[in-house]
Amino acid sequence: MMGGTSGLEQLDEMYESIILDHYRNPRHTDPLDHADVDVEAQNPFCGDEIHIQLTLDDDGKVQEISVSGRGCAISQSSASLLSEMLEGKDVEQAMEQITLMRRMLRNDNMTEEELDQLGDLVALEGVKRFPVRIKCALLSWTALEDALQERKGK
Ligand code: ZN
Repeated sequence: MMGGTSGLEQLDEMYESIILDHYRNPRHTDPLDHADVDVEAQNPFCGDEIHIQLTLDDDGKVQEISVSGRGCAISQSSASLLSEMLEGKDVEQAMEQITLMRRMLRNDNMTEEELDQLGDLVALEGVKRFPVRIKCALLSWTALEDALQERKGK
């Protein structure tokens, strides 16, 4: 286990490297020919753009994922992390993760278990200290949530 001040510094560095890695090498960026969920979102405050496409199987499980866009490192790495989060999830599980992500960024009290459930996404926790950037971090998440909710309502 890490302890003391140096441990915390290492943790921040580790988080930063996760964010930069996803920004430089975003996952799942190939566009899909056909998508069951197709949503675009913009954050005018920062110029961020996100395009999310998914295909779902009959059980509502995510099959194919495409997430692409342009903008700041926070928005783009968050979108790439979202694409990884979606792997193997069904719609209900994805919605759960979206709720957890929003709670983390709003500095809600999170249990250890909930933080564990977020996995690498915890790398974005530091963003909560910068209210202007929370919009960047949540852009893709809110867009996906809206799209999934709309689909559910059909
Ligand atoms: Zn941004």
